[in-house]
Amino acid sequence: MNPIVVLLTLAALILVGSALASSTEAAMLTVNPIQVHTLKQQRVPGSRALERIKARPGRALVLLVVINNLFNISGSMLLGSQADQVFKDIPGGAWALVAFNGGFTVAVILLGEILPKTIGNSFAMPISLTAARFLLLLERLTLPLLLVLTAAAVLAGITASDGPGRVRVTTT
Ligand SMILES: [Mg+2]
Repeated sequence: MNPIVVLLTLAALILVGSALASSTEAAMLTVNPIQVHTLKQQRVPGSRALERIKARPGRALVLLVVINNLFNISGSMLLGSQADQVFKDIPGGAWALVAFNGGFTVAVILLGEILPKTIGNSFAMPISLTAARFLLLLERLTLPLLLVLTAAAVLAGITASDGPGRVRVTTT
């Protein structure tokens, strides 16, 4: 395959993956547990899985942060080596590589982080419901890793413990 096509495909995949992780993360943080509970009683598809996720929100958030960084960091390292291949033989390739690097960094910030988080906030419930089943399945598949990372974050004082696994809903 043409190296430039590979480069652009890889760049698009990283941006889409990073955007999906960030929009879901923002949506999961925004979505209201009481509303989720109401939707579950109405048997809305995805609401049962979503309520389970919201009962222990730390796991889903750690998982989404891991996915986001796999795309942003590991993806970008792959992209960098591919960009090196593409630009190394052309005149002014070193400058082209620097420009590509800068442009892609801006693209990740805008299209992989800021825009998806705004969208995730605005459409929190539909995004959360759509992602819930897949996210819960991923949570179960990666549970040992998530427990270690969550424990490490709690120990480091970065996040509060999920407690026994229930979100306390207070109504006044
Ligand atoms: Mg992202």
